[in-house]
Amino acid sequence: MRGLMKHALIALAATLLSTAASADTLIANVNGIQVDAQSRLQRFSALLIGDDGKVLGLIRPGDRMPTATAVIDEHGRTLMPGFIDSHGHVTDLGFSALTLNVDGTKSLAEMQQKLREYAAAHPNETWIVGFGWNQELWPDKRFPTSADLDAVVSDRPVVLQRVDGHAVVANSAAMKAAGVTAATKAPAGGEIHDGLFVDNATGLINKAVPAPTAAQLDQALAKAQDILLGFGVTSVASMSTSGPDWLAFRRAADSGKLDVRLMAYMLAGNDMPMTAPTGWLDGDHLRAVGVKVFADGALGSRGAWLKKPYSDMPGTTGLQFHTDAEMRAIDEKAAAQGFQIATHAIGDAANAQVIRSYEWLDSKYGLNRRWRIEHAQIVDCADLPRIGKGHMIASMQPTHQTSDRLMAEKRLDPARLKCAYAWQSMLRTGAKLAFGTDFPVESPNPFPGLSAAISRQDVNGQPAGGWYPAERLTLGQALHAYTRGGAYAAFAEDRIGALDPGKWADFVIVDQDPTKVDPQQLAKTQVLQTWVAGKKVWEGREASSGPERGR
Ligand SMILES: [Zn+2]
Repeated sequence: MRGLMKHALIALAATLLSTAASADTLIANVNGIQVDAQSRLQRFSALLIGDDGKVLGLIRPGDRMPTATAVIDEHGRTLMPGFIDSHGHVTDLGFSALTLNVDGTKSLAEMQQKLREYAAAHPNETWIVGFGWNQELWPDKRFPTSADLDAVVSDRPVVLQRVDGHAVVANSAAMKAAGVTAATKAPAGGEIHDGLFVDNATGLINKAVPAPTAAQLDQALAKAQDILLGFGVTSVASMSTSGPDWLAFRRAADSGKLDVRLMAYMLAGNDMPMTAPTGWLDGDHLRAVGVKVFADGALGSRGAWLKKPYSDMPGTTGLQFHTDAEMRAIDEKAAAQGFQIATHAIGDAANAQVIRSYEWLDSKYGLNRRWRIEHAQIVDCADLPRIGKGHMIASMQPTHQTSDRLMAEKRLDPARLKCAYAWQSMLRTGAKLAFGTDFPVESPNPFPGLSAAISRQDVNGQPAGGWYPAERLTLGQALHAYTRGGAYAAFAEDRIGALDPGKWADFVIVDQDPTKVDPQQLAKTQVLQTWVAGKKVWEGREASSGPERGR
């Protein structure tokens, strides 16, 4: 009797609870699109969200409409899962929007002019730190020097970072503050030329740059979040997260300010603020999941480590950051601590080294640790199948292909381009693909990336027919890499990456159906609303002028 009574009471309580908590929301009358696990397009006409911000169900055309406490009519607009950017630099994105930005300058003179104007407008800034130059966009393609900066600002230190983050140019005042002289030698894995510091040599200058304050980091994070949500990016694998970055993420999480979900890959080193991955914090808004390791530099500054010399500079094969033994030691420590490992590898020699190290880890620890190769840009065709065989993740950035194409053709001969930016080949060998942008190296806008992924063409349709078009993906495959693939790559597929029951209702409303437009039009898709955990966290205007979108 007592047992029965108890059951009855529990049943009554459950009824009351479900009545009280049944504040379900139906997002009705949508042109819903997502991909299934096999990258096939699924369509739905409404989305039912529970009170907890998780998906209760998708309503397909012809299904009976469920009742819900609140119904929001989207008038037939297109709804898709929120995008997961699998490789971005969050606070850098904020700073690139808040400080001197020379991204896209078409000449040295234009960069100098921007620096001149910024210096005049910020007389009290004791150091000028800027970002975004790319000599490949300049007529003579010459790297900038300290003299080029001294000609504009000589009264205080100036440090300008290359768009890929792999080189900085400093003026004389900055070098003086850093104690760098003509006699200073570059460390292993770095180079110095006339005030230009490449890869490991950048530390010689950067150590003198005043670290951002906690308040500045908080401001940069808030700005980055605003930009990301405006582009429909609801989750990010935050690469190269520093200790101070992590503390800023924690402050935002603890005070309920995080809308975007951050899956942090901590910069491997001695000052990591944790010795093991954290659990999910703040309603799955934050987690430290892995460590970030570097195997080489980047192609633009000839820091990518190649098996054979650069075609346009036969004296060099780029920069090897670690011996095999060093990399194994770094990887073994991270693996023993339980971290996932994400290693930056651009050149074919770097990719081969990372594959070797991961294969060695697998032989020791077994498969299924989802070892990640970040960029995996230039891979020797002979090494490519090993990525799939080792169940590794290729974390790639489609817009790097379109931005790098002409530069890559100079740096490398056609034989080495065959397995470069090789998305379809990666999938064919069984590798898991996760897409991102490496923001602020590229804009975090996912749509130019989707466009490049399906066309191998830039937003202007160049080159005709696509660059190595066999590497094109279907739109379904590209969407998969940008949603489900990104979730899998960060051990988060049980909670994000698709609008499946039980996962978070993270989604976007966009201004056109991506399945019904050509690649150039696809790149122009505008996000109208961004929702995280069933709540609208960003809304733009429908006019084509659009909201402020940062860069
Ligand atoms: Zn990066």
